[in-house]
Amino acid sequence: MSLKRMFSLRHTLALRLTLWYAGIFTLSSCVAFLLFYTLITSVIRERTDQELLSQASHFSAVLSARGLEAIQDYAVLEAQAAGVKKVFFRLLYSNGETFSSSNMAYWRDIGVRGAAIESVVRGNGHVFDTIVIKGRRDQVRVLYALIGPDIILQVGQSMENYSRFIDAFRGIFITTMVFLIGLAAGVGWFMARRAVSGIEAVTRTAQNISGGSLEQRVPVKPRGDEIDQLAITFNQMLDRIQTLVTEIKEMSDNIAHDLKSPITIMRGMAEVTLTTGKSLAEYESMAASTIEECDRLLDMINTMLMISKTEAGVDKLAWEKIELADVIQDACELFRPMAEDKGLTLNCNVPRKCPILGDPRMIQRMLANLLDNAIKYTEAGGTVSISVAENEGRDVVLNIRDTGIGISSKDLPRIFERFYRCDQSRAEAGIGLGLSLAKAVVRAHGGDIMVKSALNQGSTFTVTLPKSEPSDAKSNPHPQP
Ligand code: ADP
Repeated sequence: MSLKRMFSLRHTLALRLTLWYAGIFTLSSCVAFLLFYTLITSVIRERTDQELLSQASHFSAVLSARGLEAIQDYAVLEAQAAGVKKVFFRLLYSNGETFSSSNMAYWRDIGVRGAAIESVVRGNGHVFDTIVIKGRRDQVRVLYALIGPDIILQVGQSMENYSRFIDAFRGIFITTMVFLIGLAAGVGWFMARRAVSGIEAVTRTAQNISGGSLEQRVPVKPRGDEIDQLAITFNQMLDRIQTLVTEIKEMSDNIAHDLKSPITIMRGMAEVTLTTGKSLAEYESMAASTIEECDRLLDMINTMLMISKTEAGVDKLAWEKIELADVIQDACELFRPMAEDKGLTLNCNVPRKCPILGDPRMIQRMLANLLDNAIKYTEAGGTVSISVAENEGRDVVLNIRDTGIGISSKDLPRIFERFYRCDQSRAEAGIGLGLSLAKAVVRAHGGDIMVKSALNQGSTFTVTLPKSEPSDAKSNPHPQP
């Protein structure tokens, strides 16, 4: 691994996780070792103390059975039997004066502690000491015990064997720990890399996307863990962004296309009039056509603004009680001449009363757009029917049915998008905003609009409107789709 790469790893989550893992492992191992070490040393000390106490009771027994001289010989023999460098015995009077001992050449640095003698004499029975002799590694455990009237035994035992055992234990522990910490760091690194590899995939995809390729997706593994959930959510977000980007692109293409036609027409007319027109009538005709094209453009821009404002809830609806039956009757009367001109039958099947709460201007506009479409996209001899029914007293359901050219299943999901027009209807005038506005109005009233259609068999638009003002209409008049 190059130095540069190692340096760059400094800030990685994988390295931090590995360090945490190895650190916690080391700390818990050290605590376990310390507990174990303390336990072992206290057990060893207890065993040594028991041995020393048992020596003292042997001396006491010999003293009471065989007298003072016998225990002096006994001390020498016992020290020789155990090893003069392993154990020593000193026999003292209660004033601390030594009257006999085993071979003390090796133990000459160990004296008699007056305070210990005093404590034994005062009736404490026995006192333990741990002594470290300068220049020697191992400690010496010493017992002062009263073994007869006025006779005190000082017995000391080297802890060399135990020290060796502890040293070996410590050595094994350190070697094992070094190996285990290395292993823990390796395992930690492997686990951390595995855990963050999913995040790296998400990051890589995000980087590629910012480089321009919106089609990329994060690979999802079938494990179903948090990283996979992140990848799935990220992919869903990308799908949505891609759809939005495509829609925006199509919409701007459509706007450009719809603006281009009237502007080209106006420019063409002006050019023709300038080069060929001579009479006032020709100038007047050009001005009239220009006004007509400008009106078309203004209408388009106004409708776009209206859709945006209605969707965003910028313009509050002017809620009032509306008699929907009357609104529909008026609309039918308005569109009847247009239907008759086209040779269509217009059926208006509305009840006598159908009150709802809503914005009358908006409801009229929505109704007009739907009726206009039904008539526009139905050929001569066809029928357009409009009917209303109440649904459990909560909603009114408005159906506008025609026997016209219909909509293909490919186009159906998109007809409510701004500027979307089906291929088969391009012969008719229109800009593709009528249904977007109708949908925005219905949603602002807390209702819904749906369509059922089949190519060459006609279409049915179903509008459901709540009879009363939706509870969230004042704060959010436009519920999200
Ligand atoms: P337009 O101004 O083109 O009518 P709309 O937003 O009102 O725009 O409608 C979008 C498209 O939906 C229309 O171009 C047409 O292709 C299709 N459409 C809408 N209503 C009908 C209908 N009743 N019958 C068949 N096609 C329809």
